[in-house]
Amino acid sequence: MSSDGPLLIIVSSPSGAGKTTLTNLLRQRIPELTFSVSHTTRPPRATERSGREYHFVRRPEFEQLVAEGRFLEWAEVHDHLYGTSEAELVRAQDARGVIFDVDHQGARQIKSKRPDAIAIFILPPSLEELRKRLKGRATETERGLERRFEAAGNEIAHYGMFDYLLVNDCLEEAVDKLVAIVVAEQCRRSRSARSAELLLAARRSACPDG
Ligand code: ADP
Ligand code: 5GP
Repeated sequence: MSSDGPLLIIVSSPSGAGKTTLTNLLRQRIPELTFSVSHTTRPPRATERSGREYHFVRRPEFEQLVAEGRFLEWAEVHDHLYGTSEAELVRAQDARGVIFDVDHQGARQIKSKRPDAIAIFILPPSLEELRKRLKGRATETERGLERRFEAAGNEIAHYGMFDYLLVNDCLEEAVDKLVAIVVAEQCRRSRSARSAELLLAARRSACPDG
């Protein structure tokens, strides 16, 4: 595992469980983290801007990027294509950590290429609450909402490949847990050994004989 470069943080969940809300709050608490901005063929929602939430592209452009090998991972989700470009990793090189909001297919692909990535799965407290949140967000058509709700079971079925499971019931508690996971991961010996080695090197040069 490399201690160089940003901590790679994969966050997945069934649609509507709260990963966008939670990761936005995580970034407020740890501003040194950055988001990976994915490409998608999904049309933008009213509040979304290209280059901020996503790079919105048409299907032929997305397929061209796939053919050129520009993606770290990509997948079809809810009838649209989504992908993380390699360029996002390069852009995040100087950050402490980079957050990937991807589905379970993307999580698996990132993990297989970068086993040092940590993968966090967000669960809703219940399916009723998940439906309520999806409906309350008011971003989907009735069909889109059903499509996402039906996909929730399949998404949750892949929980076994994630390192951490987090139930997003009380929002404040869930954010605290997410922050705790990231801070603990940053403190892993493999990622923090440099601090100890610098002290040892300083001591060696101060007392070369002892
Ligand atoms: P996702 O990114 O996983 O699709 P969102 O972050 O968009 O989900 O959240 C879906 C909806 O649920 C939003 O309207 C959001 O405000 C709401 N929400 C998120 N977390 C909670 C929570 N802990 N309690 C109540 N509502 C929440
Ligand atoms: P939404 O349309 O609600 O923004 O996202 C729908 C689903 O697509 C979510 O599960 C989200 O995590 C996933 N997603 C977003 N970006 C990517 C990506 O780059 N790759 C993959 N594999 N999934 C993504």
